[in-house]
This record gives sequence, C-alpha cells and structure tokens, in this order.
Amino acid sequence: MDGAGLPETKSTCPYCGVGCGVLLRPSGEGGLDVRGDPDHPANFGRLCSKGSALGQTVGLEHRLLAPQIGGVETDWDTALDLVAERFKSAIAQHGPDSVAFYVSGQLLTEDYYVANKLMKGFIGSANIDTNSRLCMASSVAGHKRAFGSDTVPGTYEDLDQADLVVLVGSNLAWCHPVLHQRLLQARKTRGTKIVVVDPRRTASCADADLHLALQPGSDAALFNGLLTQIAARGAVDADYAANLSGLEAAVASATADDLTATGLPHHELRAFFDLWINTPKVVTIYSQGVNQSTTGTDKVNAILNCHLAAGRIGKPGCGPFSVTGQPNAMGGREVGGLANMLACHLDLENADHRAAVRQFWGADTVPSAAGLKAVDMFSAVANGRIKALWIIHTNPAVSMPDADAVRDAIAACPFTVVSDITAQTDTARVADVLLPATAWAEKEGTVTNSDRTISRQRRVLPAPGLARDDWDILAEVGRRMGFDDAFDYANPAEIFREHATLSGIAGQFGRDYDISALADISDAAYAALQPTRWPVTKNRIGGRFFADGRFFHADGKARIIAVTSRPPATSPTPDSPFVLNTGRLRDQWHTMTRTALSPRLSGHLPEPFVDIHPKDAASLGISSSDLVSLRNAHGRAILRARITKDVQQGQFFAPIHWTAETARCARIDALVAPATDPISGQPESKASTVSATRF
Ligand code: SF4
Repeated sequence: MDGAGLPETKSTCPYCGVGCGVLLRPSGEGGLDVRGDPDHPANFGRLCSKGSALGQTVGLEHRLLAPQIGGVETDWDTALDLVAERFKSAIAQHGPDSVAFYVSGQLLTEDYYVANKLMKGFIGSANIDTNSRLCMASSVAGHKRAFGSDTVPGTYEDLDQADLVVLVGSNLAWCHPVLHQRLLQARKTRGTKIVVVDPRRTASCADADLHLALQPGSDAALFNGLLTQIAARGAVDADYAANLSGLEAAVASATADDLTATGLPHHELRAFFDLWINTPKVVTIYSQGVNQSTTGTDKVNAILNCHLAAGRIGKPGCGPFSVTGQPNAMGGREVGGLANMLACHLDLENADHRAAVRQFWGADTVPSAAGLKAVDMFSAVANGRIKALWIIHTNPAVSMPDADAVRDAIAACPFTVVSDITAQTDTARVADVLLPATAWAEKEGTVTNSDRTISRQRRVLPAPGLARDDWDILAEVGRRMGFDDAFDYANPAEIFREHATLSGIAGQFGRDYDISALADISDAAYAALQPTRWPVTKNRIGGRFFADGRFFHADGKARIIAVTSRPPATSPTPDSPFVLNTGRLRDQWHTMTRTALSPRLSGHLPEPFVDIHPKDAASLGISSSDLVSLRNAHGRAILRARITKDVQQGQFFAPIHWTAETARCARIDALVAPATDPISGQPESKASTVSATRF
C-alpha cells in the first residue's frame, strides 16, 4: 500500500541548524515522501540536497533493532539493569565524577533535558558534554563574555533586510544551503553585498563581491583592524556606546595588533573596511572557521566588538550571527547540555541559580564546578578516571580530534554504553552495551534552530524492532538508579512543560531564555505547536534582543573584550610543513550514518579527498587523482588528490565525513591535534600540521 491520500505531517529536518520545516507523508513499505514546508519561517518551502533526500534514508537496512551486550542481543530489562548497575557501582566506588555522558546536537530538547537532569541533578556530576562542543562552544563563550548570556541577538529576517552580509569561516552555500539561498534572494531583490572571509575559496565565494583569503587563524587581527577603523573614522555609535564598557581599552589593544598577520593586501583590507563602515545594515555570519580554533572565543568577541561599537545589533538587518551546525545545538544550550552550563541559561557558578534548579528538580545537590569538556572527557577516559561512559547519537571514535587515541580510549574504558540508531559506527563497535534508539521521523519532540525558533519533530513512522525514544531510555535508567519520582515521565510533552516551567525561574533571575508562557501547554497544543521563536512569555514572543541596549551582565552593559590575535597552536615545521583545514561537504552529514544511505547524496563527491595547491603538488610530485598519504604525530590518512587553487599554497583541505566503515584510512580527525581554546574548550579542527607524500 502506498501513502497517497494520507495527510502530510509537519516536522523539521534533522541536519543543520537552519532548521527547515518539512512535510512528511509515508509512501508505503517504510518509505517517506518529503517536501519543504511552505509555511515554516526558516525555509518557506525550500530544501537543500540533503533535506530533499531524507526520504531515501529511512530504510531499516542498517538499523540497530535490539539491545546488545557484548555483541549479543538481549531484552531491554537486562540491558537497562546492567547500565544502571554499572553506573551506580562506579559512582559508589569512585564518586560521581567517575562517570560521564557524551551526547549530541541530534538529540531533541526533551531528550537533552532528561540527560542533563540525570547527570547534573541526580548523579551529581557536571560530566555531560555534547558534540556541539566541536561546533559552537566558542560562540557560547563569546556571547556570554560580551552579553552576559548566550544570546543570539538577531533573526533570519535580518538576512532579508541587510545591505551587506559578511561570511566569516562559513561556507554557507554548502553547510547552511537554505540560508544561503535566502541570502541570494536578498542579493537579487535589494542588491545585498556579500563578503567571504575564508582562507579557502569555497562555493560561497561564487556570489561574493569580495573574498578575503586571509591566513588561517587571523580573523581576530582582521576584526581588530576593523574596530580601530570604526573608532578612527568616527563610526562608533555614541548613543549605543553608553551601553558598553571596555571600548577604549579594546581599541587601544587592537591598535597594537598587526594586520599583516592576515596576509591580505592593503587594497582588500581597505575595501572591506570601507564597505563595512559605510553600510549601516550589516550582518556578520560566522561558523566553524571562527569557532574551531584555539582562539575561537577571542575571534567571536572580535566580531561582536565591531557590531557593538558601531551599534549594529538589535536592529533590522544588523547583527553578529552564529549559525549552528546541528539541528538542535541550540536546544542543547537551552537545557544546559554543555559541561559548563546549567539548565535554561542559568549559571553553574552562581549559587542562587544552582539552589533554584536543585529545589525545582528535588535533587540533593547540583555540582558547582564545570564538568569535563569533550576533549578533556576523552583524555579522562584514556587515563582511567572515567569508569562508565554513555555515548548518545554521536561517533567520537571518528569525529573527535586525535580520533585514533579516542577510539582506543573508548575501547579500553571499563564500561561503555552507546545509544544509536545503528551498530555500524566506529564507536558502537567498541562499546560494551548498545541501546537501540528511535530515529528522526519515529520520535516526538522539539528542536531549536540558529535563530531561536523552536519547531516540532513529529512521528510518522513506527519505532522499528525494539527501538525506544531517548528520553524514555534515559528516564528508565534514572528510575533504575533509584531516582524514581524525578524521572516518571509519560511523554515528551510532560518534559517540555517541566523545562518551560524551569525557564520561568530563569526568567525571574533575569535570564534571556524564558518560554514560561508554554509551561501549561496541553498535550494537544504541544502536538500542534507551530514554529515559535523564543522568548515566549506573557509579555513577549520572539523578536530581536538588545534593541533597547540592555544586556544580561549585572550592570546591564555589554562588554567590549580586548582581544589579541594569536596564530594557531601548531605552526608548520620541516617535518609537518602543511596546514590541514577540515570541513563539511554539501551532500554529507557528520559521519554519514544517514546521508550515505542516499545514492543521490553519495554520488556528489563519492570518495575522500585532499585539496592541494598546484605548486605544492608539483613540489611533492603529486598529480591529480594520485593517492596521498598525510601524516603527523597523531595519525595518518590516505586520500585522493585534487589539485586546485581553491586552497592556498602550503594549505590543504580535507572533508570530515569518512569512517573506517566507509573508507578505511580516511578518518581525517585522526590527524587533528587535541588542542583547545582555553575558554570554550573547543578544539582547533582547522589548522593541524601534516606531511604529505605520494602513496
Ligand atoms: Fe535540512 Fe539544513 Fe538543508 Fe534545511 S538547509 S534542508 S535544515 S540540511
């Protein structure tokens, strides 16, 4: 039977942080028809190649359909009892900080909320971190330093209203394609100018007025230079500057900065500064090229500094804009799914906030110190401090820096649980217990996209085999660990109400994240919930932040942070003379567990490759399509050479997606050093050094 005649169900794409609305209709025999939702404010019916191929990725061929212990299928009771028992015994013997959760921006907000509550409220440790640490932790840290809160100031409508959009370290055309389409539409209708700031010539440069191919890691030098020009040319917004502190010191500090670090010619710098300063409506979009750096937080603040000083924030067509990589990176931030955050944008280090959350949850204690951030968490696994580890919907054996060492650490951990939709990941292969989870289109809940819009994901397909929802699995383990009352949920709507109620307490503390007007939402209203941008309170729904010049620091002022530009942690040496940049492709997602199921997507760029400048290729004796061996102290990868001037001499680019399963010897994160930003803990995934030889 096919699905013709069945109604379509509104849901949300499970890939990037654009958060496009989709309309789903089962097409019979497990298939799914997918089209863009014309009413969703993120995409108005548009979908990119990945979103439009979703229907090809819902087959059960590679699904994990039953719990497994040691590779042998078992029943849920046996698996859950074992998980609860092993976590309890590790905590009893070694304390709460001997266990850890490593979760994912793929989780729905309700799942994330329960995971965070279990770890921070009842286990009593802050050792829960998420793969969003690899994506936008530097933006979180930069927002908090500047604004006093992790607030995305603007909205997608600002892209429609801007006259200049600057993309910094963001290949928007491939990584947030529908947002890029929206930008191109604005370019067509109002002539919006586009500047791309990226060491690499990417697909986003095709429609740019200016491409600044700066040296890796020099973004802060560029924006410090812009700040000094804003000050020198009298472009500081004097009225708005009354809401800021630190401007003079930051300008003085930036003056000392050396624009030569960017490697950009004077005429390009002048063209950029002129355009930015002379265009009142400017949006600066930034992404992993800024965040994935040992100076990521400083780079973020260098960008925020310029928008704050010029008063180009909180107004239509203006603002700094962090676009998130994952479908629910923002939801993870909202529930406090990072090791250094509490729930609802409350602060772990604030005793009043902790007391309020502890009382609300009915927990004995909430930890006062930050837990282990991702890189440190896997170091702690490697050195034996972590005795029990639960990894949920992510594949750190491939995606973490120093991936070979991380894979070995997970394999050696005394007890590792993996919840996922497939057993065929490099991480699942070395786990002790596998728990089958429901996938996108089989589960109910909410996600938040890059512009704070909360959207529903809805179930249109049955849970296959014994698969269960993540909130349900986590709550079951919580109950079996003895925390019965706190995890007695009937459905995701109940969890959503609890989260919304807690956000009202955050609102009383003056925090930005407040959706308390949804605290009494009925099951039926939750089922029908339309895309809604937060905050959602009695007095306000959505909109921009900071139009009134009030920020979330105690004095109400924003901070201009004095930033000194610093190069990447590792510099080229005679043994490792090339800088390796890593990133995403248009048609693949993370470690390909879903996108590789689509023949159309897999046909775009079917094998792993490395981009090499023609002069480097000549000096290495490498021709197009040769196999190339890349090496450094951390690992090795063998990739197909593409000779191209899209990369600069001395710099390589390779995609992140391939795994031992999909292409042996092409796990690119095995070459990424585990160096991190000291503030955000985000690793430097875009500036590793390697040697190269023809294979
Ligand atoms: Fe999905 Fe992102 Fe593509 Fe939209 S732009 S369809 S959210 S992958």
